[in-house]
Amino acid sequence: MTRNTNAPAGAGALRQSTTGSVALDGALWLVQHGFPVFPCDHPMLRRCAGLHKTCDGSRGKHPAVAFTRAWTLDERKVHEAFARGLRNPAVAVGACSGPDGTQLVVIDSDRPGAIEDVASARGETWPATMRVRTAKGYHDYLWAPGTLKLGNGLGQLQGQFDGDVRAGNAYVIGPGARHASGVLYELEDAEQPPVIAPAWLLDALVTKPQFAARRTRWQDASPHVPGQPRSVRGLATFVLDSRPGDRNNRLFWAACRAAEDAQDGREDAQDALLAAAVQAGLSEREALATIRSAYNRTGATA
Ligand SMILES: [Zn+2]
Repeated sequence: MTRNTNAPAGAGALRQSTTGSVALDGALWLVQHGFPVFPCDHPMLRRCAGLHKTCDGSRGKHPAVAFTRAWTLDERKVHEAFARGLRNPAVAVGACSGPDGTQLVVIDSDRPGAIEDVASARGETWPATMRVRTAKGYHDYLWAPGTLKLGNGLGQLQGQFDGDVRAGNAYVIGPGARHASGVLYELEDAEQPPVIAPAWLLDALVTKPQFAARRTRWQDASPHVPGQPRSVRGLATFVLDSRPGDRNNRLFWAACRAAEDAQDGREDAQDALLAAAVQAGLSEREALATIRSAYNRTGATA
């Protein structure tokens, strides 16, 4: 990760605070870049500053104001709000409007690489976009068409993505905030604005999870019996048995195994997998991309 130490604010600047408060620096950076801000609880306060009656104990994350209407884009108001005591800055996602009437969607990965894995299982590459490092992973900020009905639903990604989606009437904790674990939420690159969300992501988010709703334990359902070599036919059958919601995931998993087997000098199953995937309803192009991505990942050549 390269850091621009000359960045006006953000990663480096949040460490060398200009206002004496990393939280205020973060909040100011957000409003200066068009992200509506509001204050949340701060984990170093003795009591939660959240508006709620009873606290569930997830300190540092509870809105201190009615955020759907009490957000601001005004620097003066930000100074006021953050002068009242320690507060974590947060972004009112639904109040945010991007270029050409777009809306904000934040992809909240619970581990580094979670959304990249989703992309690669679909034969896609995750784009570079505005990214905030969190305690567990990342918040990736993207613009989506304003006409799309997005919320916190994962759509087709349910059971496939280790994380959450925040859009519509939602909020995310912003850069400059302190997590209860002590970790500081930080911008990866203060110069990187949000990019337009990839079409495959939006398609997946607005598609109802069909079979994916019950978390597919496809790994457990693998045809491999420990101690016995996997057969080409077994891997192909595994792909053939896919339901529409998990075809790509199953193909990716099977292709990873096939690549490992091929590297170990066993029979290469990729042709059989391609045939099975097409028979299961994937397009040849999509199936090839998934197989290639699995082979690349294992260092084999497809
Ligand atoms: Zn609370």
